[in-house]
Amino acid sequence: MAAGEHENVSPLVFRLHEGSPPVVREVLLERGWEEYDEQEHEEGDWNLYWRTSAFRNSDYENILPWQRMNHHPKTIHITRKDCLTRHLRRMKSAYGTSAYDFSPPAFILPNEYTKFLGVYTRNRTSGKSQYWICKPVDLSRGRGIFLFDDIKDLAYDSPVIVQKYISDPLLISGYKFDLRIYVCVKSFSPLVIYMHQEGLVRFGTEKYSLASLDNLYSHLTNTSINKFGLCYTAYKEQVGRGCKWTMSKFRCFLHNQGVNDLLLWNKISNIVTLTLLTAAPSIPSSPNCLELLGFDILIDTSFKPWLLEVNYSPALSLDCPADVTVKKGLINDIIDLMNYKMIDSFRHKGYLRTRYMRPCCPRHYLRPPAFLLHKTTGPNKSISSNSIRVCPRKETYNTHTYHKQLVDVFLNDEEIDNEESDLTALSQVRQTSRKLASTACKLPSLHVQNHKSPTAPSNRQSKDRCIPPFRVGDFILTFPFNEVTWKASRDEVDVKTVVHEVHKLTSRLASSFSDKERTKMDKRDVVRDRFEALLWGPKNPPLLSEFSSEC
Ligand code: ADP
Repeated sequence: MAAGEHENVSPLVFRLHEGSPPVVREVLLERGWEEYDEQEHEEGDWNLYWRTSAFRNSDYENILPWQRMNHHPKTIHITRKDCLTRHLRRMKSAYGTSAYDFSPPAFILPNEYTKFLGVYTRNRTSGKSQYWICKPVDLSRGRGIFLFDDIKDLAYDSPVIVQKYISDPLLISGYKFDLRIYVCVKSFSPLVIYMHQEGLVRFGTEKYSLASLDNLYSHLTNTSINKFGLCYTAYKEQVGRGCKWTMSKFRCFLHNQGVNDLLLWNKISNIVTLTLLTAAPSIPSSPNCLELLGFDILIDTSFKPWLLEVNYSPALSLDCPADVTVKKGLINDIIDLMNYKMIDSFRHKGYLRTRYMRPCCPRHYLRPPAFLLHKTTGPNKSISSNSIRVCPRKETYNTHTYHKQLVDVFLNDEEIDNEESDLTALSQVRQTSRKLASTACKLPSLHVQNHKSPTAPSNRQSKDRCIPPFRVGDFILTFPFNEVTWKASRDEVDVKTVVHEVHKLTSRLASSFSDKERTKMDKRDVVRDRFEALLWGPKNPPLLSEFSSEC
């Protein structure tokens, strides 16, 4: 579309806060977006605001229907190490240790020093070997972290957590690694979680050894640390140069080793769900937001995955080829997940200005442009002030309502009201919208179904508007995963039911992987379920139900 060809249409606009990753800009420009410029654009004339840090409350209050933001409010709570420890502990005591046994025991110091000392002393007396890792609660990238096995080496001058060190990690050619899993929470209410199939595997660059606890290149897998190691550029047996693999490469590795990774992915997906459940009930609903989180998972020698931490605004810097592959794809899929519609590009030029639409003003009834008002007088009559229902407040005037109304307006002549100014504007919009429909407009392809397997989500999914798409690019819907969890998370999340379902699914999957147990499987639930959820993990994931029904 040539610039200026359609007066009322403009490209989607992104706004990057200072310090945002350059790859976000790169991807959006490649997709034909325009960057927000304070001098050129009106306030509110943007579709995406990306920040590495948290937004202010007022940003949420002022959000307009065509806008999206890359954080939900209050999610920072599960990404601070001490908060996460507290949340998981609370869930453990409410729903049982067996459901929440995926995070290494931890103590928040200085407050819990005496408690820690008690455990340390008991272990010492019983002759158990014990290794601990001390981490500042609010730092990232490995900063301030150290290991110890003797309490005399524990020193700190800011709040820290002291966590049991998983001392038997799975190694590849003697090198420790952990997994960076990218998770997108599309919504907290209802809870909707996607996991990206491509993640990163991050290696230590010196061989793992408990004999040298102070060698950070051997014990920590952060790139920010290892890229300064002497062995970073050297070729390392099997691992290669650098310190990262893509998840695809890791899957290949597992297959070559004869490891059935499906159960592992399912366990990781459960960790993600159970962790997010700790926060979901306290996060306000914000339909225009989504949250990208980085889950750090360590696998031990018995293939048990452990949650090390959850990262807010996970690093999106491009340090190596694996980063480029994974992170560019990730950003593209996030934009698709944001579900922009053509309608979002009609955000200004006279009738969608913030003065009409701003939904934030508490206690005020806002007056949207006349063509968005519901008429009660019939299609061709002029409207009087008492015959219109003004959309009242943010809670009842959400994006979906807005989109529906605008789409109606674009597609249905009878919806046009008689206010002259709006009519002129609207006819331009409609013409443009029709032209756009027939031109190659560079809007995102929504909910792309790359998966060509015959078991991919079928028509059934599109017929049921309520169920979120099972796959968007490389994002796989991991929660809700069946009818029960969908219902349990629709309004106020029913944590107990969800925990129970997660547990049931894992047991079912575990038994479906064991030939001996297959005959014992209960098929009844599966047959009744409309869900055709995919099992996150492999490049072409099978349906969950394939593993829950008789094979
Ligand atoms: P940061 O936010 O500073 O990256 P992490 O908790 O992710 O802190 O820890 C950094 C690295 O330390 C991890 O990537 C992992 O390699 C290692 N690590 C952290 N906690 C543990 C643990 N409990 N057991 C084993 N290794 C750990």
